[in-house]
Amino acid sequence: MLMEGKDEVMEYRTLGRTGLRVSVIGFGGIPIQRVDEASAGAILERALDLGVNFIDTARGYTDSEQKIGKVLRCRRKDCILASKAMARTSEAMTKEIETSLKDLQTDYLDLYQLHNVKDEVTLQQVMDPGGALEALDRARQAGKICFIGITGHKPSALVSAIATGIFDTVQFPFNFLEQEAAKALLPLAREQNTGTIAMKPLAGGAFRQAELSLRWIIQQTTMAIPGIDALSQVEKNVTAGTAVPLSVKEEQLLAAEAGKLGERFCRRCEYCLPCPAGISIPTMFLFDGYLTRYGLADWARERYWALSQQIGACLDCGECEQKCPYQLPVREMLREARGNLEG
Ligand code: SF4
Ligand code: SF4
Repeated sequence: MLMEGKDEVMEYRTLGRTGLRVSVIGFGGIPIQRVDEASAGAILERALDLGVNFIDTARGYTDSEQKIGKVLRCRRKDCILASKAMARTSEAMTKEIETSLKDLQTDYLDLYQLHNVKDEVTLQQVMDPGGALEALDRARQAGKICFIGITGHKPSALVSAIATGIFDTVQFPFNFLEQEAAKALLPLAREQNTGTIAMKPLAGGAFRQAELSLRWIIQQTTMAIPGIDALSQVEKNVTAGTAVPLSVKEEQLLAAEAGKLGERFCRRCEYCLPCPAGISIPTMFLFDGYLTRYGLADWARERYWALSQQIGACLDCGECEQKCPYQLPVREMLREARGNLEG
């Protein structure tokens, strides 16, 4: 359905079994960490004015919840608000939900998600007695959250999560370069009526043809949530909101850009692991991307140094390059990432 007036370029869809009507283009709350409060407020207000009605943030995005909360205390009814936390136990998740409510200045959240459930072991942990899911269930019964979602980077773990039938939504990286979710995750989500939220729709800011990338994605998912930290990006992103399918020529243009980017873009498939030196190779590229494309240098460096092994431990054995299905020059890319992250 297309809305008229201020929303004339935005399409709205039902987010799976939640029944929530969401704009196909949402607001990803990572990048506003790096802009000041006034700019963050102006960007968010503009997005809401242009018909974006789904705001996604996280406890882990430093002051993102607080910045969003300042705007939403006056416009709460204009949007569907989602947050998430990395807590894995019931006790820790209870605290995180309370902090989210306080920082977002609201008494309920439409959606609360288990953040970055990376594998089946973690999934089991959150679902076990005393796990984070208990806290989410309690919060739902108390009316503090309306629906429960899950997020992660690895489609296989998310497929197991969807199959449980517990989660109302699933959030995962999806774009022309990262299409693994299209295989099992999307068909199962459709079958289970689980809302599908594409994160990293511009591959962490790598895609320049934002409108094409977003239009391509929302042909396959319920919605996409590009990270936004500038007014110009808001205007550009909402032009994709009519969800018009790509023409053959447009798809060729997108494929050409993806082909170029793909020569040096880590898809986080983890086929290169384990590394004999214990380096978490995709994590290095993830942090490097946050630093170089999102400009979150302090955030990325702090997390880099907190890892058990840094890039300097590399033995130069080349095993990762033999295992990488995308033939990436992993060692060279790691050297570059090291320069950025340790610079
Ligand atoms: S080249 Fe370095 S990063 Fe790659 S597998 Fe060997 S030790 Fe690990
Ligand atoms: S370096 Fe290659 S194998 Fe390793 S996670 Fe990235 S894309 Fe996958």
